[in-house]
Amino acid sequence: MGTTPLIQIKNLKKQYFSQNNRVTALSGINLDINKGDIFGIIGMSGAGKSTLVRCINFLEKPTGGTVIIKDSDLSLMNEKELRCVRREIGMIFQQFNLLMQRSVEDNICFPLEISGMSKKEGRKRAAELLELVGLSDKKKSYPSQLSGGQKQRVAIARALATNPEILLCDEATSALDPTTTRSILALLKDINKKLGITIIIITHEMTVVEEICDRVAIIDKGTLAETGTVEEVFSKPKTDAAKKLVYHSGSAISEMTGRRCVRIVFDGKSSFEPVIANMVLECRAQVNILFADTKDINGKAFGQMVLQLPEDEMLSDKIVHYLESKNVNVEELVDYVG
Ligand code: ADP
Repeated sequence: MGTTPLIQIKNLKKQYFSQNNRVTALSGINLDINKGDIFGIIGMSGAGKSTLVRCINFLEKPTGGTVIIKDSDLSLMNEKELRCVRREIGMIFQQFNLLMQRSVEDNICFPLEISGMSKKEGRKRAAELLELVGLSDKKKSYPSQLSGGQKQRVAIARALATNPEILLCDEATSALDPTTTRSILALLKDINKKLGITIIIITHEMTVVEEICDRVAIIDKGTLAETGTVEEVFSKPKTDAAKKLVYHSGSAISEMTGRRCVRIVFDGKSSFEPVIANMVLECRAQVNILFADTKDINGKAFGQMVLQLPEDEMLSDKIVHYLESKNVNVEELVDYVG
């Protein structure tokens, strides 16, 4: 408590100007990211995520506000000072951005060569990093010989080569299948634990955030819609933008019909079956279970279920009251359009 956040984003604004057009991509974002966090930044396409990630290290100059990293205000720095700060920030991307004509090992050595490290030292460091990402046997391979997941592992090793304090991941798993996504996220979590590196994950997928992030910020139309722990946002999304993302992290919810529906969330201390069974007995009512699943968020099991309630309003009110009396988090989905 009381320690200064590693990254402070202050009233960050960005407008793009073209001939006769002005696009406001970010309109005053305030966000603190603590050292050692795995921080998710999520939003729909066009929300401003990529702009935000490029502004965090001033690759893109904001039109207002600033970013403070470890007490240094980036808006007060010249290009040379900014290059120094950027060395502390590794980046990985959806398209991997590897050098195709260089071997895996040489890709990893590339930033080390630029920083002036000897070839011999570079190769030693590359071997350590390949071990960390589980690709020691691929050091002489070329990117074209690797799968998407392996390419992203090489990109991670390269991003970590110069020992950055921060790793920015811009849609890093969006081009990967679900199983490979899982393995890359597990690797990022492992790296966060082993190296204490602060990781910022930019994504449009709530499942990615649920899988590894501690905290999350939801960006909507260039503004910060909501921020909190992943548990808080998952259990009680407050804004429409958050609700949309949380509901769509499941499936089939959009198939709800016009009748009154509720989403209920269990936080792992209780489980669905006895509550639903007792509710049916006590209220003498049937409900349709439209959707149910369980998620592991930071090692805690969270269950969510969407129930379609009976037409009878008194009966459906009774059900809602019953569930609330059992400390189940109940959210009305009446107006929700999937
Ligand atoms: P996201 O990454 O969430 O999809 P972006 O940051 O790419 O969102 O885009 C936010 C908004 O800014 C969009 O309306 C997009 O069209 C606009 N935008 C992004 N980059 C540029 C640019 N270089 N020039 C003009 N408009 C841009």
